[in-house]
Amino acid sequence: MRVGHGFDAHRLVEGRRLVLGGVVIPFERGALGHSDADVLAHAVSDAILGAAALGDLGARFPDTDERWRDADSMELLAACVTDVRAAGYRIVNVDATIVVDRPKLAAFIGEMRENVAQRLVLDVEAVSVKAKTSEGMGYTGDGTGIAAYAVALLE
Ligand code: MG
Repeated sequence: MRVGHGFDAHRLVEGRRLVLGGVVIPFERGALGHSDADVLAHAVSDAILGAAALGDLGARFPDTDERWRDADSMELLAACVTDVRAAGYRIVNVDATIVVDRPKLAAFIGEMRENVAQRLVLDVEAVSVKAKTSEGMGYTGDGTGIAAYAVALLE
């Protein structure tokens, strides 16, 4: 068994879409990034890569590479899954937490879980996605940004 941890954060700005786990969330601002800046997809990708000691998403898909501009991060996650499986590992489960005060995400959690589970080739029961606020504190509380954490178990 091997455990991996992933973290990601992006700025929230006007004129961008907010995409989380492949779900477009209706909100007046979105996450700034080279790709679609899907913090959930990025944190989960880093968790599974980390568990396999295969580096990180930024090394695999550099933000200096025009090929990955506005990339669908769920496609990048699927590529990471392929790498992890090719290295001889099976993904057992993933648990992720998105941190942001606004927008409220409860209504979208089910669809995010289904999307992430599909990319991980897992039953939805093996994928947990949670949303937490930071009660007005820091960049996730004052609307500056959004963050996500994830852990993954491989065998
Ligand atoms: Mg990112």
